[in-house]
Formats: sequence, C-alpha cells, structure tokens
Amino acid sequence: MNNHIPHADLASHANLIDREYCERLDISDRLAECRKQFVLPAGVAYFDGMSLGALPKIASDRVAAVIESQWGEGLVRSWNTAGWIEMPQRIGGKIAPLLGADADEVVVADSTSVNLFKLLVAALRLRPDRRVIVIESSNFPTDIYIARGVEELHPGVEVKIVPGGQVDHALDDKVAVVMLTHVDFKTAEIHNMAKITARARDAGAIVLWDLSHSTGAVPLDLHGCDADLAVGCGYKYLNGGPGAPAFMFVARHHQEQIDQPITAWMGHAKPFDFDLNYTPAQGVKRLLSGTPMIVSLAAMEAGLDIWNQVDLHSVREKSIAMSELFVRIVAQRSTDPQLKLASPSDPKRRGGHLAFQHPQGYAVMQALIDRGVIGDFRDPDLMRFGFAPLYLRFADVWTAANALVEVVETNAWDHPRFRERAAVT
Ligand SMILES: *Cc1c(COP(=O)(O)O)cnc(C)c1O
Repeated sequence: MNNHIPHADLASHANLIDREYCERLDISDRLAECRKQFVLPAGVAYFDGMSLGALPKIASDRVAAVIESQWGEGLVRSWNTAGWIEMPQRIGGKIAPLLGADADEVVVADSTSVNLFKLLVAALRLRPDRRVIVIESSNFPTDIYIARGVEELHPGVEVKIVPGGQVDHALDDKVAVVMLTHVDFKTAEIHNMAKITARARDAGAIVLWDLSHSTGAVPLDLHGCDADLAVGCGYKYLNGGPGAPAFMFVARHHQEQIDQPITAWMGHAKPFDFDLNYTPAQGVKRLLSGTPMIVSLAAMEAGLDIWNQVDLHSVREKSIAMSELFVRIVAQRSTDPQLKLASPSDPKRRGGHLAFQHPQGYAVMQALIDRGVIGDFRDPDLMRFGFAPLYLRFADVWTAANALVEVVETNAWDHPRFRERAAVT
C-alpha cells in the first residue's frame, strides 16, 4: 500500500533515545505546521485520536456561523441559501480523496452503525440467491450486533462468524456478503483489502468494508481494490467532533441497483413532491434517510478542510515514524516482561494506533491519563495509543512512551482510584 521508509536514521538508532532527539525530529517534520490548526489543551499529550479526534480551530467559528447567522437569521431559507440540503453529498465529496474514490460515490449521514445496517441489507439484495453473511469474531461488536439484527429480520439469512483471518475458508456459493473491519480496532492489524475483495469477488460475494479505523490513518484505494461498499466513522481520525455523522461509499457500478431499507424522504428522487410512492434518488443520495444534522455536519466539514490540504502518504509516513519511535523508546527503557506490544511489529501491517498489553492495563491507562497522557483501554488488557500526525509531535511521543514506562516500572498504577471503571473506557 505504501512503501515509504520511515525516517531511516530512526530505524538504525542504536543510542538511547532522549527528548532532544525527538525534538529534532519535530524540527524537520513537514507536517509540523498543521498542529496550529487544532485546539490542544496545555499539559496534554493526546493519543486518543482514533477514538475522538481533536478540535479543529475553525470548527467553533463554522458552527457559530451556522447557528447564529444561518439558523438565527436565515431560518428555513438556509436550506437553499446556505447550501444545507447539499451538505451530505458535499462533505462526502471531501472524504472521497481519502478513500481513493470519486466524489459522487460517498455520502454522509447517520451513524456508522445505522449505515452498516443500510448497506448490509442493500448488499443482501444485490445477491438475492445467496443467504450467508460472513463476519469475523474480531470485528467491532457493533458490526456483529447489526449483522445479527439483519439476520433476525430476514428469515433464511444466516450470519457465520469466523475467526480473524479465516474468511477465505468460509467463501462458497452461499455467501452473499463478507463484512469486515479493515483496520482492527484492538490490535490495529490491517486486512489485505485488495486480496480479500478479489477472493470474495471470485466467489460471487459482495464485500462491505468498515473503514472506521482506516480513514485518515492509512491511504486507501477503494477503486484500485475494486471495492463494492464501505462505511466509516466521522469522529475518529477525521476530527469531525463527538457523534459526527458517518459516511457510506457505493462503487459507481452498484449505484443503479443499490436498494437500502431505510427509505425515507431525503433519499427520494423528489422529496418536495410529497408523492405517496417512494422513488429512490439517483446515485448515493438514495442512501439518505431523514433530515441531515446540519450543526454536526458543519463541525465535520471543518475537520475535512484540513484533511484536504495534506498529502495522505506524508501523513502515513509520519504516523509510522511516530509509532516506531514509541515502540523503540518502550523497548529501550522498559524492563517489565508483562508490558508487551499487541500490534503487529511490522508497521506496514498496522493502522494508526499501537496496542500494548499489560495485566493491569486499565489502571496503567488511568495513571497515564492522570499525568496528561491520554490514550484508552479495551478489554481485557489492551492499552491503545493513537497517532494523529496532523497534530501530534515527536516530543509528545517521547512524553507518552516515557510516562508509560515510568508508570509500569514504578507501579504508579497501583492505587484504588485508578481501578475504578468509568462508563467510557
Ligand atoms: C468506531 C467504530 C464504529 C462506531 O459506530 P457508531 O455507530 O459511530 O457508534 C463502528 N465500527 C467500527 C469498526 C468502529 O471502529
């Protein structure tokens, strides 16, 4: 996918890495200026961009303008005069370059979960003579829950859950859809999209990719992989804000047949005809259901306007350099055999984050957050550190990796307040 060699001197760095070394990497970082476009609190090293991306500075002004001027003054006229009605397609078009897709193949609406439902049912309808949905047990649970829900609604449809990496063996002439998360939300391992899509195609199945942990983390080439359908999240690496709408991709060659189940007026060819019969709109517009969430979309567009200024391959190169630096600092300084890398050690095989395993992972992460190093935790024992190259510095990598080693080495996690589970981990 990407053959850039991460900072070559880093790979051969034999001496103990120190903060000065990391600060020098920041000086030669071509993406360093990007950080100025984000709000980042002082004293925080933010490594949770794969869960909630940071706030773009322009987002507040954009949202304020939508609320005060477009909503406050323009009122209902703004659907036309401020281009509100076009926002799902316009913003989809800004996501498309990150996916290796065309602008008119992507649209923004609803949440990832709801979009998974829509496209999973649509995929089944593209293969009416087949009844099996194949998913991996390592998939994000919401994806599995949605598949189960679809199964329940469709007598005769069967969900087959296979172990990670075993999709090949499940492919036969009964499989309608293979539904996979491209970058594993726990370990960050990347699926081979080109290979799996081709195998599924040969077996006559549609692949529905969940790109939530891929978009903005790794360069994608949906056209090159001849991908059918995809969904992804707006609030992770895209920096669209908490609960930002999600996106859907439908390859052009499927757009005329695609038939999604939440048929509502915004997906109608002529919503303001108020016709009693449903006629789907042309293209990805038919994937829309109800009225778009304009305030959320305005915040989301602010994040995408930053993405559209940068080269995704440089972003990936910096992401790999940062995660390799993190791994190296931990390897050089940690003596605790219980602290282990749970992500692939080959950076080309992992997405935008690192997972480290530790039996006290939850408490270790709480102790880190207490020190201003913010990552997150996934059961049973994984600490995740996300690398968002648009706003993270190599010096932040130093801070976080060093803090991780310090918390583990000194047992600073061993305190009752760090063991109390919060609602969101
Ligand atoms: C984050 C994520 C989701 C989130 O779904 P929502 O409907 O936005 O809550 C779904 N799938 C995967 C793989 C994710 O990483």
